[in-house]
Amino acid sequence: MANHTEGPTIGIDLGTTYSLNDQGNRTTPSYVAFTLMQRLVGDATKNQVARNPTNSVFDAKRWIGRRFSDPLVQSDINLWPFKVIEGPSDKPMIVKCFAAEEISSMVLKKMREMAEANLGTTVKNVVVADAGGIACLNVLSIINEPTAAALAYDLEKSGCIVKKNVLIVDVGGGTVDVSLLTIEKGVFEAKAVAGDTHLGGEDFDNRMLKHFVEIFKRQHKVDISGDSRALRRLRTACENAKRILSSAIETTIEVDCLYNGIDFFSTINCAKFAELNMDLFRKCIEPVEKCLADAKIDKSCIHDVVLTGGSSRIPKVQQLLQDFFDGKELCKSINPDEAVAYGAAVQTAILTRRGNEKIQDIILFDVTPLSLGIGTNGQASEEFLVYEGERANSCDNNLLGKFRIPVTPAPRGVAKVIACFDLDIDGILNVSAEEKTTGVKRKITITNDKRRLSKNRIERMVQDAKIYKADDDYHMKKVKAKLGLEDYAYKMKNAVNDENICARLSRTVRKEIKNAVEQAIEWLDGLQLVDSEEHADKLETPQSICDAIIERIYR
Ligand code: AMP
Repeated sequence: MANHTEGPTIGIDLGTTYSLNDQGNRTTPSYVAFTLMQRLVGDATKNQVARNPTNSVFDAKRWIGRRFSDPLVQSDINLWPFKVIEGPSDKPMIVKCFAAEEISSMVLKKMREMAEANLGTTVKNVVVADAGGIACLNVLSIINEPTAAALAYDLEKSGCIVKKNVLIVDVGGGTVDVSLLTIEKGVFEAKAVAGDTHLGGEDFDNRMLKHFVEIFKRQHKVDISGDSRALRRLRTACENAKRILSSAIETTIEVDCLYNGIDFFSTINCAKFAELNMDLFRKCIEPVEKCLADAKIDKSCIHDVVLTGGSSRIPKVQQLLQDFFDGKELCKSINPDEAVAYGAAVQTAILTRRGNEKIQDIILFDVTPLSLGIGTNGQASEEFLVYEGERANSCDNNLLGKFRIPVTPAPRGVAKVIACFDLDIDGILNVSAEEKTTGVKRKITITNDKRRLSKNRIERMVQDAKIYKADDDYHMKKVKAKLGLEDYAYKMKNAVNDENICARLSRTVRKEIKNAVEQAIEWLDGLQLVDSEEHADKLETPQSICDAIIERIYR
């Protein structure tokens, strides 16, 4: 546990569009702007965005872990007024050659400075609800946003006494995160998590922006899509209109001198906004379905659906969710903007052992976002490799670490190494292994910092697993066929060496079996993985020989 900390610790919600800390600095734009003289972060950027659109960066968090060639990045680039170029290893580099992680870390530093101003002291420790790379801060823990929101929900309910299944739906500026937790007497157990790392309020703004670019074209016969300043100003007006439409049926869009001295005026109502975004709103429900399916919990067993994230205020999103839960009342009582930073602050109090007894009694059990597994380089290998990922072929997964354990030579399938995974609240993974025949034990610790994957990378690995499912199934079929042939050959080899069996076989028959299995083993040894049919063909010869002999013996 990371409790060796000095000085105060703050909770920060690093949002795509806005960030918050638990020290009273509420929604601060996650913007970084570069002027000739200085670098601006947060509120100070917003006032100059219209004058300096090409150097005002927003939405950087969406790009953490993505490649420049990623179609989602490419579609964003077409709409964003600031410049993005292809950096080394296909990494998108923003404005003055900053990586998305660097821009996010500037926002984090700003949040720290603001907290320091409030507290009147230096802050070195933070708990961040979802972040990429962070500079100069001791990050005690990174918890997912829905878990942080669940903490806030529980405190608001004064602690759930009876066990409850709670679904947290966080619809933010650039991501949708869903978590299913059971909460009982301060014990939070995450049952499943799901999400979409490229869906949220910014996408809804984009749809409205495209709509009004078209309207402007129709009204004035000019296309403003190449004018970054005009786009920036129209985007701001769209975001405002979107917010208003969460509590009004209709609103106006007015931008003075939008392009070449032409004023723009138009209206939009809830129905049009919903029509522009209906497919995206429906997509927000997909992680909900996935989360329930992963946890194997029926939607009727959910006690509370808790909304968080600014975009969860959109009435149509709420209605789709409510319909999905057969009309169930949604829990909207926690402030969607502040819940995550508040929950991160509770996590802070737990980790630093500060705060009242009620908080100290809270226990969080998170789920691993990716499957964990162990691989070897072969039957006799003493080296064990720990992976995370969903792909069938271990080399397509993320290698977390290695350990060695002496394995006693034994017939195939006899030596057994039992591995146990233990992931703690700080994301530190302990893998312990025991060789069952000798009782020899080994343990490795994999910390959260270097090898574990970022949230975006995790999401991409899960997507890759879906994309490559057919390839992976084919690979698994080959592996199973190879193992089947190996298994059969070694079983027969062991059998002809067994004294009891030997006594019942003539010399010629023993030789016949030995030859057949040795041929099969030789064929396997000198071979890469081949089609399962080839293995099946190869299995036919020893199997037909052995089957005939077995039949003869037992007739
Ligand atoms: P978050 O990442 O949770 O801070 O959410 C930010 C997103 O929520 C941005 O895209 C905002 O435009 C959006 N948002 C904030 N308030 C509202 C509202 N009242 N109605 C619709 N969207 C909102």
